[in-house]
Amino acid sequence: VVAVSMERSVDLVVALLGVLKTGGAYLPLDPRFPAERLRLMIEDAAPRVVLTSLDLPPDAVTHTTTGAAARPVTPDDLAYVIYTSGSTGRPKGVEVPHGALSNLLASFAREPGLSVTDVLVAVTTVSFDIAALEIFLPLITGASVVIASAEEAADGERLSGLLEASGATLLQATPATWRMLLASGWTPRPSLRMWCGGEAMPVDLADALRATGGELWNVYGPTETTIWSALAPVASAGDARSIGVPVDGTALHVVDEHLDAVPRGVPGELLIGGAGVARGYRNQPALTAERFVADPFAGRAGARAYRTGDRVRIDEEGRIEFLGRTDAQVKIRGFRVELGEIEALLRRDRDVRDAAVAVLDGQRLAAYLVLATPARRPGLIAGITASLRERLPDYMVPGIFTDLDALPLTPNGKLDRRALARLAVVSAPESEYIEPRTPIERVLADLWQQVLIVDRVGVRDEFFALGGHSLHVARIVASLRRTFRVALPLRSVFEATTIERLAEVLTSLEPAPGRMLQIASALLRLQAMTPEERERLRDARRARAEAT
Ligand code: AMP
Repeated sequence: VVAVSMERSVDLVVALLGVLKTGGAYLPLDPRFPAERLRLMIEDAAPRVVLTSLDLPPDAVTHTTTGAAARPVTPDDLAYVIYTSGSTGRPKGVEVPHGALSNLLASFAREPGLSVTDVLVAVTTVSFDIAALEIFLPLITGASVVIASAEEAADGERLSGLLEASGATLLQATPATWRMLLASGWTPRPSLRMWCGGEAMPVDLADALRATGGELWNVYGPTETTIWSALAPVASAGDARSIGVPVDGTALHVVDEHLDAVPRGVPGELLIGGAGVARGYRNQPALTAERFVADPFAGRAGARAYRTGDRVRIDEEGRIEFLGRTDAQVKIRGFRVELGEIEALLRRDRDVRDAAVAVLDGQRLAAYLVLATPARRPGLIAGITASLRERLPDYMVPGIFTDLDALPLTPNGKLDRRALARLAVVSAPESEYIEPRTPIERVLADLWQQVLIVDRVGVRDEFFALGGHSLHVARIVASLRRTFRVALPLRSVFEATTIERLAEVLTSLEPAPGRMLQIASALLRLQAMTPEERERLRDARRARAEAT
C-alpha cells in the first residue's frame, strides 16, 4: 500500500498510475482532512511509502523512490484502499482489487461510453472512489481528462468557467455539485453529458438538468462494490428514482433478512454480487463477514455478495427503484456519513452523557446532547465542535446543537430518529441577538435567512454555527456576485463569517456608494424562494414560536 497525499494536479494522476504500474495499491489521503483522521488511516492501512508534494507540510514521512519497474499485476491484486465512515467511531478501509476496477471501467467504456473525442472534467476528491473513474476511464479510452483544482471544484462559477473553457463533453458529479453549478447561474451546452450519482437523484434536479437538452444518467453504487454497480438513463421525470440495471459482470438481487429473494414490487435490501465485490474491510474480519456474505445466487462456490443496506424494490419494468436506507448511514452533500461515528465521538466527551445526530432538511447535521450537568457552560459547544474538527472532515461536524433531558425513544426502546429532526432548535445559542443596523446588513440577513432556512439572523451570529456549510457559501456568494456585480471571492464568506464582517467586505468592494444597495434591496426581494423553501421557513418560524 502506497499512501498518496497530493493536491489535485497532473502530478496526482502520475502518482496514482505509478503506484498501480509498480504493483502497489494506493491509499488516497486528502490533504484537507484533519491530521488525526489521516493518522487513523495510516495506522490501519500501514502504507510502506507516502507520496506527497513538497508544498504540503511534511506531517508524514516522505520517501522518494526512483526507477521502480512496472510489475505485472493479477486481477486479485489490490488496486486501492478507500476509507469510509464507520459506525463504531473509526473509518473503515474498503479493499478493492484490480479485477473489480477494470470490470467497472470496461463496462462504462461500453455504456454510457467514452471515446477519443470526449473531454471529462474531474471534480471529485481522490478519497472518494468515483474519482478513480474520472481519472482512469478517459485514460483507457483515449479521451482527455481535465483535473479541476480543489478551488474550482468547490466554486460553481469557476467550475462552469472551466467546463466552458475546456470544451467538456462529460461531467460526473453528485447531486450537490450539480445543484451548486445550477445555483451559480450555469447553463450547460446540450453537448455536455451528465452522470449524476452518489445519492438519490431528486426529481426537481433531474428536471432542471434534463431541461438543458443534454444526456443524463443516474449512476448508483457503494464503495464496497467498486464505484458504480447500476446505471439508468434519465429520460423522463419518473426515471429519477430508478437506479436501473446492473453494470457488466454484476448481479443485483432484492432480498429479505434471510437473503431470500422477495417478489417483484416488494421492498427489500439490495444485495450485489459479481465482479465488482471488494475483498472486504481491511483488518476487520467480523465486519467483513457481516456485510460480505456467500452469494446465494451465484451457483459457484466461493462467490461473495455485498449487503448494501439500501432499501429497494423492482418496478413493473424490471428496474430497481431506490427507497432509502435500512440503517443510520446518510449522505451529506454527496459524502457518506455514519451518524453512529459522530455519535460515538460525542459520547467520548466528559460533559456529554448521551448523544444523537440527525440530518435536517437533507443537508445539515444536528447534534442532540444529554449533558452530564444540566446547565450548559459557556463555550461548551465551541469546545466540543473544536474537538470534532480535529477528528472529522468538515462535512461530518454538526452545525446545530440542541440540549435534551433525554433522547426520544421508540416504543421498543430504540432511538427515535424521526422524532429528533423535529426537536432541533435552529439558532446560534451562544451569541446574543443583534438586529441588522444598516440597510446592507438587513439585505445580508435576508439572504442568510433564505439560504440557511432560519427565521432570524443577528449580525454577530456565526455562519457555521447556524448550520451553514460550503454549499450555502456557494449560493450566497453567487447571489451577492450577481446582485452587487462585484468580484467577491468564495473565501470571503469563510473568512467573514458574520453579517457584520461580511457587510464590511462588501462595502469595501462597492463601486459607487449607494448604488449597490439600491440594486440589492430590489433584487433580493424579487428573488423568488421555492415553495419548498418557503414552507421550511414557515416551519422554522412556527417551531421557534412554540419553543418560546
Ligand atoms: P458511497 O460508498 O460513498 O458511494 O455510498 C454508497 C451509498 O450511496 C449507496 O449504498 C446508496 O445508499 C447511496 N447512493 C449512491 N448512488 C446512489 C444513487 N444513484 N441513488 C440512490 N442512492 C445512491
